[in-house]
Parts: sequence; structure tokens; C-alpha cells
Amino acid sequence: MQKLIYIVEDEADIAELVAIRLQSAGFDTRVFAEAASMFHALEELSPDLIVLDLMLPDMDGVEVCQRLRRSDQHSRLPIIMLTARVDVADRVRGLDVGADDYIGKPFEGRELVARVNSVLRRSAEDNSASRLTIPPGLVLDLTRHECLIDGARADLTLTELRILKLLISKPGKVYSRSAILDHLWGTDKIVIERSVDVHIKNLREKLGAYARYIQNIRGMGYKYEPRP
Ligand code: CA
Repeated sequence: MQKLIYIVEDEADIAELVAIRLQSAGFDTRVFAEAASMFHALEELSPDLIVLDLMLPDMDGVEVCQRLRRSDQHSRLPIIMLTARVDVADRVRGLDVGADDYIGKPFEGRELVARVNSVLRRSAEDNSASRLTIPPGLVLDLTRHECLIDGARADLTLTELRILKLLISKPGKVYSRSAILDHLWGTDKIVIERSVDVHIKNLREKLGAYARYIQNIRGMGYKYEPRP
């Protein structure tokens, strides 16, 4: 079954380049020059992943990402942000609003395909796993891609779910930022360790009372402490 990828990019030549690269890697693609038409198509058919440009004529890519994350149906849809901007602040902002990865323009076709495959693989792995809990009321249901806190769904991104899964599965074990990045990205590891801090900060905010179980060990990394 061919995977479908939506490409939202107003610069026609870049959109075409992305589409050609992904098609030659075996993906089915649909290109949208603005966010509105993509949202319209989304009502009909949901893709496996979205490659989303940060600068669009009708809506900021960050806004598109937030809107998807807030929706019930598409909150787990893998998103790769495409950005012309190279500074770390913008990239971190992209991850901050729930993008699963980003690619700076100009990019290499091979890198694009590798990132897409990596994000899809992570998404599939998460779908095959089971349930983990932090008593009394936090349940990480990885089959359904859900984190329930006292019965209510916490709005975690795919990346946040994976970090939480990693930490909870080995109580007390301290993971360095680099080890967390290895787990998240494998060989397609992104370069900035600061992104781990951003994900953990967002994750802890969403965990509410359970945030205290996820602890920062100064100079070392992060761990799940079952008896905080
Ligand atoms: Ca653009």
C-alpha cells in the first residue's frame, strides 16, 4: 500500500522538487499551494504524513501545525516542517508547536526521504506497542497513540509520546539528551540537543501533576522516577 504525503508549499518549484523526490522513493503525493485547500482535502482523505512549509500565503505553518494538533482527528498526524530559516529559534519553535521533525531549505533529496521514512517508522513503531502506566492515573496507550491522565486525553505529540514511553519503560534509568535523540531519530539524528529540552518542557506541562515523575538530572539527562 502506497503511503500518501501532503505537501503544503506555495513556491511551485520547491513543491515540485519535494513531490518528485518523494514519488521516486515510492510515495504518493498531493501538493497544496496554501493551507486552506489542504484543510479542505483533509476532510476527504487523511495522508500518512504532511510536509509543511513554514511560510504560506494564507496561514503561518506554525498556525497550521497548532490547528492540526488541536483537532481530534489529526492530532497525531506526522508533520515535517519545511523552513527557509536556518536559525535554531525557528526550528525549536516548530518542534514546540508539535512538528515531528524539520528540514531546512535548501535540502538534499536523500535527506528529505530519510527524514520522511524515519518519522513514518517512528509512527508505526509507536502504533505497535502496548500500554504503560504511572500509578494511579496515567496510562500511555501506544496502540491508540494516547496518553490518558485520570481518564482524560492529554494532547501529546508523537515525539512527546515516544520520549515518555522511553523514560517510563526503564524506571530510574537516566537517559542523556544524546541517548534520547538516538532513540527518537536513530541514524537520522538531529543535531541540536536543546530540542530534547523543548520536548520535555512541553511534555511536563501537559502531564500536570505527573510532571514531577519526569526529572532532570543536572549535567546528565532525564529519567522517570517512580517514587518522586
Ligand atoms: Ca513558502
